[in-house]
Parts: sequence; C-alpha cells; structure tokens
Amino acid sequence: MLKNAKRIVVKVGTSTLTYPTGKINIRRVKALVEVLSDLRNAGIQLALVTSGAIGIGAVKLGLPGRPQDTPGRQAAATVGQCELMFLYDKLFSEYGQVVGQLLITRSDIENGERRENLINCFEKLFDYGAMPVINENDSVAVEEIVYGDNDNLSAQVAKLIGADGLIILSDIDGLFSANPSEDESAVLIPIVREIDESVYCIAGGSSSSVGTGGMATKITAAKIATDAGIETVVMNGANPEDIYRAIDGRQVGTQFLARN
Ligand code: GLU
Repeated sequence: MLKNAKRIVVKVGTSTLTYPTGKINIRRVKALVEVLSDLRNAGIQLALVTSGAIGIGAVKLGLPGRPQDTPGRQAAATVGQCELMFLYDKLFSEYGQVVGQLLITRSDIENGERRENLINCFEKLFDYGAMPVINENDSVAVEEIVYGDNDNLSAQVAKLIGADGLIILSDIDGLFSANPSEDESAVLIPIVREIDESVYCIAGGSSSSVGTGGMATKITAAKIATDAGIETVVMNGANPEDIYRAIDGRQVGTQFLARN
C-alpha cells in the first residue's frame, strides 16, 4: 500500500481540526503538524489539503453557525483562511518546515493552461523543499465553479501532482458495513478492492455539521484517486500518530486499493 509512497496528499477536514465548539483543536493540530513534519524529515513529499476556512472564520467572526448564504461563506472563508495559515505556518516553523498556501478553484484544475501553471507551481514548491497547503478558494469559488468538498479536491490534487498515496482523515474510523451510529453490528471494512455500487450504498449520506463531506464524498474521492492508480486510505484523524501505521503499510482505517 502506502509503504513505498514517495509523494502523499493528506486531507484534513473541519471536524478533525476543531472541537464541537467550533474552535480549533490546538492539541490535535499540533500532533498532526508534528507527524507530518517527521514524515517530511524522513524524505516523503507531502501536500496538505485542509478545510476549516469557513468554520473557523465563522467562529472568529462570532457568527452563530456556518453561514447559509454564499456571500456569508465567502466572507467567513477570508477570515478563517488567515487564521488557518497563521497556525500552520507557526506550528510547521517550529519543526523547521516551510509551507506555501495554494487556494484553488475547479477551473484552475480543469482549464489546460491554468492546470499547467498550477502543476509548475507545485513542482517548484517541492523542488524548494516546501510543503503545499491547499484549500479551495472559497471566497471566489461560488456555485458553478465550486468543488464544494475538499475530499474531491484532495483526489484532484493527488492526480494533478502524480501522488502515489492519498490519506483522508475523517471523524470516523473508516468505511463501516452499516452506519455505526445506528447499527451496533456495523463493522469496519479494512480493505476495498473495487469501488462499485454496493460500496456507495453502504457509505450512505452521512455528514457532519461542521464540514461538508460525509463518507459518500470520501468514497467518490477514493474512486477518483484509485482509478488514477493512487492508493487511498480513509482513517480517523483523531490520533494523527496513526498516520504512521498507514505509511508503514499496517492496517488502519479503510484502504482502497489502486487500480492499475
Ligand atoms: N473549503 C471549505 C473550508 O475550508 C471546506 C470544504 C469541506 O468541508 O470539504 O471551509
């Protein structure tokens, strides 16, 4: 699986980065930064796709919740994205890591020329030894040009940069045979060899209140990535040290095997 991966995209969602209060889970973000820095020191090229701009911005602005209207989400994202990058820059700096921010929209990836420019920027960042930190450009990416969820974005980025691995950190342990909050007999599915209709069926439409993704969007992302030959793991982000297990090729979360 990910054991020999040299370039990996890690995606972290709002529910992993924040407490149920909506405020930043500093302890967890610190743990995540420490593990990612360590993996970079070990020679693995990483790109971090991070959510949190809208949720963290809404809290910082003192709003009662995630804005329901598009301009509200755009505005909240401008505030939250600053806070997010401030935190990443500060924490990664403690480990001597350099980060660069990329805010992208679907058209940046789909339009041939912009796509090439984006790839060049990613490659140059890797050449410089810096780590790309990516989010959707939520303050300009409205309606028709929006990916909307960073699960999808992370798979697109993984394809774009020719990653060999994608790790999606979730607020549950992986894909279960049924919804574990409703069905006690639900068991974790450790390996998915092929993403077919039955997999989409059991993923259902589960969704958390702070992020936009649920298991369904993670399956769609896993399908995009594995179809492009990228090994994908969906795992719980609560204990970032578990990422070592995935990298060591040990069982953790649900592993989606790449199709060659
Ligand atoms: N780009 C959104 C944000 O930073 C998150 C999208 C998602 O939750 O997948 O708030």
